[in-house]
Amino acid sequence: MSGSIDATLRARTGPMTRELVLHPADFGLAQVPARLNPAGTAHSVCGYCSTGCSLKVHLDERGEALNLSANPDYPVNLGMACPKGWEALTPLRAPDRATTPLLRNDRGELEPVDWDRALHVFCGRFKEIQAKHGAASVAFLSTGQIMTEEMAFLGALAKFGMGMKHGDGNTRQCMATAVAAYKESLGFDAPPYTYADFEESDVIVLWGSNLCIAHPILWQRVMNNRHSPAIVVVDPRATETAQAATQHVALRPKSDLTLLYGLAHLLIARGAVNRDYIDAHTTGFEAFALFARDFTPERVVTETGLAPATLEKLAATIARGQRVSFWWTMGVNQGHEATRTAQAIINLALMTGNIGRPGTGANSITGQCNAMGSRLYSSTTNLLGGHDYANAAHRGKISRALGVPEEKIPRENSLAYDQILDGIADGAIRGLWIVATNTAHSWINRGRARDLLAQLDFLVVQDMYATTDTAQAADLVLPAAGWGEKEGTFINSERRFGLTTKVARAPGQALSDFRIFQLVAHYWGCGEMFAKWSSPEAAFQLMKACTRGQPCDITGIRDYAHLEAAGGIQWPWTEADEVGAAVPSRPGLAADLADRPENQDGSASRPHLNPLQQRRLFADGRFFTSDGRARFVFEAPRPPPEPPDAEFPFMLLTGRGTSSQWHTQTRTAKSDVLRKLYPAHVYAELHPDDADRLGIAAGDALVIRSRRGAITAAAFVTATIQPGQVFLPMHYAETNLLTHWSVDPYSRQPAYKAAAVAVSRAKA
Ligand code: SF4
Repeated sequence: MSGSIDATLRARTGPMTRELVLHPADFGLAQVPARLNPAGTAHSVCGYCSTGCSLKVHLDERGEALNLSANPDYPVNLGMACPKGWEALTPLRAPDRATTPLLRNDRGELEPVDWDRALHVFCGRFKEIQAKHGAASVAFLSTGQIMTEEMAFLGALAKFGMGMKHGDGNTRQCMATAVAAYKESLGFDAPPYTYADFEESDVIVLWGSNLCIAHPILWQRVMNNRHSPAIVVVDPRATETAQAATQHVALRPKSDLTLLYGLAHLLIARGAVNRDYIDAHTTGFEAFALFARDFTPERVVTETGLAPATLEKLAATIARGQRVSFWWTMGVNQGHEATRTAQAIINLALMTGNIGRPGTGANSITGQCNAMGSRLYSSTTNLLGGHDYANAAHRGKISRALGVPEEKIPRENSLAYDQILDGIADGAIRGLWIVATNTAHSWINRGRARDLLAQLDFLVVQDMYATTDTAQAADLVLPAAGWGEKEGTFINSERRFGLTTKVARAPGQALSDFRIFQLVAHYWGCGEMFAKWSSPEAAFQLMKACTRGQPCDITGIRDYAHLEAAGGIQWPWTEADEVGAAVPSRPGLAADLADRPENQDGSASRPHLNPLQQRRLFADGRFFTSDGRARFVFEAPRPPPEPPDAEFPFMLLTGRGTSSQWHTQTRTAKSDVLRKLYPAHVYAELHPDDADRLGIAAGDALVIRSRRGAITAAAFVTATIQPGQVFLPMHYAETNLLTHWSVDPYSRQPAYKAAAVAVSRAKA
């Protein structure tokens, strides 16, 4: 850090904002981790996926990370980590880290500038656009990868401080469906489960989830199950998980809704439903039962392509189960009728009484490390803490909790991600601030997305790297610290707040996202409104205040030290919970728990199953709807928006390739170790019958065309995919050149998993 930046900023800041002056400590390791433990290690929740494993980071005498291992005491991962976790420090040391702000010059090149100039240009250009086109003409797109406190700060700053109306996050691409489904069916976005349910079920139904690859540590939890469970995988592909399952239901792509309604019909017809539970805790069952009558086994077999015996066996397995858990991920969420599909899974859990008990639940598994934080705290389409912008009482509550004038809080929900991009096309959105996501690579039909970004009057990208496709399109790049270079909390799939710790220096002038937001507030002129946001932990206290009385109430979590000692805490954890039951401390966790009465059943030898460490929702059968009853929600299935035809006869499926790749590979591609664990170039899975018919051999170059464009990919000939289908891993830049821009109408989540394509052998 140069002293000149320090001096420049000091000159521009008055005494009221002195604390915002950049100083050398901003660009280094300000202090050894506050939560350094006696063994010279720090614990930090992993910054990749939503499993939320705890990593033990081993430090040198200055408090900087040397290497890491998996934390054996954490109730999530029990000493395990996947390849990404073991390599979590490597991307921090990559040579292409953004180390200084970059501004596009008159020659069209990005050139280094100091923070003062960057922030003046950022605020000046956005204000100019707002003055000309209205406050709503600038928007932001955020991420599920930054800390909860940072998400909360960004949403509050952009909307209450900078006057934006619209902002969304890349969680729209993975979890919006689960949010919409839970809200309508259960009254709140409330995944009901805890990871111990993987070990307590006697039937585990994985719907559109390749758990072995996408959530390998959760698969290990399945392997810990001592009840010899039936493991059912519903997926068109014979994925790694399907091959390890006891039943694989290889349905036709996007026929899920028909199958789910057909299962409901069979279970009702055979009396395999829990009438007492339905009568006491749900509403709408009679209408649903009537609706499901149309989904006869004959119809289901015809529309799903399943054998009658497969359907029969699946229904019988669910009917026989005492503790059935249903789990879904992107195979459901990324579909054209995703919300109704997720709700059809919830319907099955409700009608069989498989919710609120150990080993049960209608359970969405999240994608990113902090998608759950984004769902509740990013203030995008929800107001902070799961509130509603359109509700005056909610606006008043948040105004008081944050000390923000109520009139600064928008009265309507934001446009969703796809609508913000469409807003660029029609000229309504002119300025965009993208934080820690790679829109130009990951958005569906990315060619169009990239063209839209180019139409903006001003694009700001805040990221660890200036080399992403999106950063390369920016007018201004703000260099950000990554996981391990800052502190804050993540919320994992089972609603557990976990702490991340600063264990490394961000390079050059890169700053934490939290610090960048403080500076933007100051340069925008709204710094006083955010004076209380003085540190991530101070922001955490504000977040707590916003959740009081909500289903996600966390007022009982005292502070970061409490989270650290407890091994993470699942929401809700209210003040009353905290008074009634101490959360076990982490050191000597097993010994702490051995004497507890609840462990008399022998679970002392499995401390991670302790009830205080593993809490699920709805044990009392009360849901978050106005009458306390869960709703049966249903709708007739619709055909996919782009079915195969004579010109494009294949159905393109997309999904995760390996457990060593993360999304657009922005970070995982930085690791020599991880790169050895997956193919360097894009490949396409093709059935041997199709390969024979088209004269294609394994390894041949293929041309895959859709209505959006054409790519080449190496042929991977395998019977794990059905004839007439082709699979591309989502991580490669080529994949989304082909996908079809369509969204589920309720969640507005993109339907990545079905597009029509043609396949041929590339000319030599
Ligand atoms: S990427 Fe996910 S499964 Fe792997 S170590 Fe991190 S949190 Fe655990």
